[in-house]
Amino acid sequence: MSKAPKSTAFPHRHLLGIEGLSPDEISLLLDRSEKYVEQNRKADKKQATLRGRTIINLFFEPSTRTQTSFELAGKRLGADVINMSVATSSVRKGETLIDTAMTLNAMHPDVLAVRHPDSGAIKLLSDKVNCAVINGGDGTHEHPTQALLDALTIRRRKGRLEGLLVAICGDVLHSRVARSNIHLLNTMGARVRVIAPRTLVPSSIERLGVEVFHDMRAGLQDCDIVMMLRLQSERMQGNFFPSVREYFHFFGLDYEKLAAAKPDALIMHPGPMNRGVEIDSLVADDFGRSVIREQVEIGVAVRMAVLEILSANIPPPADRNL
Ligand code: ASP
Repeated sequence: MSKAPKSTAFPHRHLLGIEGLSPDEISLLLDRSEKYVEQNRKADKKQATLRGRTIINLFFEPSTRTQTSFELAGKRLGADVINMSVATSSVRKGETLIDTAMTLNAMHPDVLAVRHPDSGAIKLLSDKVNCAVINGGDGTHEHPTQALLDALTIRRRKGRLEGLLVAICGDVLHSRVARSNIHLLNTMGARVRVIAPRTLVPSSIERLGVEVFHDMRAGLQDCDIVMMLRLQSERMQGNFFPSVREYFHFFGLDYEKLAAAKPDALIMHPGPMNRGVEIDSLVADDFGRSVIREQVEIGVAVRMAVLEILSANIPPPADRNL
């Protein structure tokens, strides 16, 4: 067993998911992120909090926002950041996930930020290394930093999370973003609806404490937040809907459907967006209501806070045992 983490406010070595975090722990991460939103708007964005620390980004799936923002976050805190390109690594030669992780671990990184196509793979990896591990998205399971950045975006705009009515719409079945958001929003006292075709909702989703709708206008009624999800075709085997055109007709967010939500409802999307599939371009680019760009900005701040808090819990390599 590794030594116990130092922080009592956030007594975790890893951030593998939102499930199981307490409201206080989530608030701590959000409050710490606020500070970095302000810092990132200054000319000098750099500080030395993580000087001497090493962060490795290990992404087994494509990523634009998450990987770049982990890299920027680490660099802005003064850490050394390495991006491991799986396409040119020994993974291509058949090395297993665990062997890759153990090889990297032997080089004494302090944090591994990992994305993997299989749900649960990152938890498995975290049991084999003695540094901190951050889940950057595992299969259809969790994407905790996305949920944190979504929550902070909402909290900054609406002043709170508690009592808000949030609709998560689209391909819920394949979405780790939806799962992490459901856990976080429920933990923080928001009410969550999911709106999706019957084929794109997991059968037991109600057990997570959400209301399920299959009609956009009914589900969006009086919502404060409209969170759209990408149709994740790369995870689909077989046909889940008749055609993209029909999907957009029933489930794509346009002004007509949006009219059911509150007039000041925020529009969110984790990216990458499929314009004209799950969201109409006019709505996505309506910067009075769409906070999609703000989500990306706040993502860097959230990852800085997570890196700072987890790094404080990691002893020097000589004192780690595994
Ligand atoms: N970027 C998010 C994720 O990695 C959402 C998506 O890909 O649709 O889960």
